[in-house]
Amino acid sequence: MKYEIAVLDGDGIGPEICAGALRVLEKIGQKYQHIFNFTHFDIGGCAIDKWGEPLPRKTVDGCLKSDSVLLGAVGGYKWDSLSGDKRPEKGLLGIRKAMGLYSNVRPAKLWKSLAEASPLKRELVKDGVEIIIVRELTGGIYFGKRESGVDETGAEFASDTEKYTVPEIERIMKIACELALKRGKKVVSVDKANVLESSRLWRRTVHAYAQKYYPEITVEDVLVDNMAMQIVKNPAQFDVVVTSNIFGDILSDEAAQVTGSIGMLASSSLGDGTRGLYEPIHGSAPDIAGKDIANPIATILAAAMMLRDSFGLTEEYAAIENAVQKTLDGGWRTADIFKEGDKKVGCAKMAELIAENI
Ligand code: NAD
Repeated sequence: MKYEIAVLDGDGIGPEICAGALRVLEKIGQKYQHIFNFTHFDIGGCAIDKWGEPLPRKTVDGCLKSDSVLLGAVGGYKWDSLSGDKRPEKGLLGIRKAMGLYSNVRPAKLWKSLAEASPLKRELVKDGVEIIIVRELTGGIYFGKRESGVDETGAEFASDTEKYTVPEIERIMKIACELALKRGKKVVSVDKANVLESSRLWRRTVHAYAQKYYPEITVEDVLVDNMAMQIVKNPAQFDVVVTSNIFGDILSDEAAQVTGSIGMLASSSLGDGTRGLYEPIHGSAPDIAGKDIANPIATILAAAMMLRDSFGLTEEYAAIENAVQKTLDGGWRTADIFKEGDKKVGCAKMAELIAENI
C-alpha cells in the first residue's frame, strides 16, 4: 500500500525527532512492503520566519490532501515575545481546527524497563502502567461563552462557561468505545456529576450511548477529584478513560508524570475520518535543540499510532512497540532516561537502534 504523510517538523528538536520517526517508518515500509511518501510543510516559528504566519495556507492544504499528519513540536524563545495571533502555538490550534479534529488520545505508558523513572513507589508500577486518556478537544469551558466586566454590586468579574451537547459527548464516547473494544472492553468516564449540570448530561449520555451501540463495553463513572487521587494511588487499575476538555487536559498531564519521562509519550488527534494528527506530548525543548540528545521515542510511537489508528496496520504498530521494548531492554537510553550502568546514545542513534530491531 502507498500512504501520503504530511510531516510538520516545526521548531527546536522537532526536525531531529521527526527524522528519527521517519527512519523507523522507512524500515517498516521495507519490511512490510508499504510505500510511505513524506512531504514536509512549515508550521510554528519556522513558518513565521519564512512566511510571516504560523500556519501558511500551503501547510493546511498539504495536510488536508495527505492520508495523515506527523508533527514534531512548535515554539521557542525566539518567538516568545510575539502577540497571541502571531505565536507559533496558534499554528497548532489552527491545524487541529482545519482538520476537524475533536478528540485527543494520549496513552500514558510506563514501560516495565523504565519503572525506576516513575516518581511513584516501585510496588505500584512494577508491572507497568498504560492509561489511555481520551480527551474531548473542541468543546467545554475552553470554547464556552466568556464574560468579564463589573457586576451590579460594582465588583469586577469574569466567567467562563462549560457547555456540552449530546452529539459532542457521543462522538468522543464512540472513539473511547472503539479503543476499548481492542483492549479491555471497559471505559472509565470522568466527570463532576455531583456538582455540575454539564457533567450530569455527560454521564447520562455516555451510558445511554454505550448501552445502545457498544453493549459489550462496561462503563464506570469516577468523579474527577477521586480520579486525580487514584492515578497516583493505583494507576495500573485504569485502561481507557474518557473525559471532557478541561478534565482531560489536567489528568493527562498527571498521568504523563506517573511515567517519569515526557520524551516517551505520544498522542493522536482524530475527527470523523481516518486522517489524524500524531505528535509527541512534549514541546520543542529549545534548551536541547540541535544537540542530538533529544529522545525520539515519543515521536516514533506517535508514528506507530498513525499506522494503527489511521491506516489499520496493527501488526506494523506492534513491530514498532516491540522494537522500542527490545532497545530499552538492551540498556540503550537517551540522556533524559539515562541512569548509571545504561548505555547512553543520542537521538539519531536511538532511532537507528529501534529501526534495526524491527
Ligand atoms: P518542553 O516539553 O519543550 O520541555 C520541557 C523539558 O523537557 C525541557 O527540559 C526539555 O529539554 C525536556 N524535553 C522535552 N522533550 C524532550 C525529549 N524528547 N527528549 C528529552 N528531553 C525532552 O516544554 P517547555 O520547555 O515548557 O516548552 C518549550 C517550547 O515548546 C515552548 O515554546 C512551548 O510553547 C512549546 N510547546 C509546544 C508544544 C507542541 O508543539 N505540542 C507542547 C508544549 C510546549
